[in-house]
Amino acid sequence: MKVTPAQIIVRGLTVRCPNCGGRTLFPPGVSLRLNKECSQCGLRLEKDEGFFLGAMSLNYGVTLVVFLTPVALLWYFGRLGDAAAAWLAVGLSVVVPVLLYRASRSWQLLLYYTLFPHHLPANRRELSGREDENV
Ligand SMILES: [Zn+2]
Repeated sequence: MKVTPAQIIVRGLTVRCPNCGGRTLFPPGVSLRLNKECSQCGLRLEKDEGFFLGAMSLNYGVTLVVFLTPVALLWYFGRLGDAAAAWLAVGLSVVVPVLLYRASRSWQLLLYYTLFPHHLPANRRELSGREDENV
């Protein structure tokens, strides 16, 4: 297999194209708009409608477990007051998903291609044994 599952995971965690490893998922700058395809290898990044609902779920899950649960625990054990905990939770609920947006789109691609590595064009060419196959 040309692109290994370990490479797919590393590329997913570093917001890179799962097929070629290029930093091509998003336009340069701070844009939150995912490119339709990789500019280096042509991998179609925009999947079917609803594909990135998984990314939203990942985003909310990480926000809840990593950021909001500690706030709830601090409040529960009396380390944070009621108002401070509420404002902190509201603030984190708004800010963290925006900060994790690009990463969560990449995590969704990571999960998809870790489960289906043969869907990557680089791996399909190797499996079919034809280098000139247009996939
Ligand atoms: Zn690529």
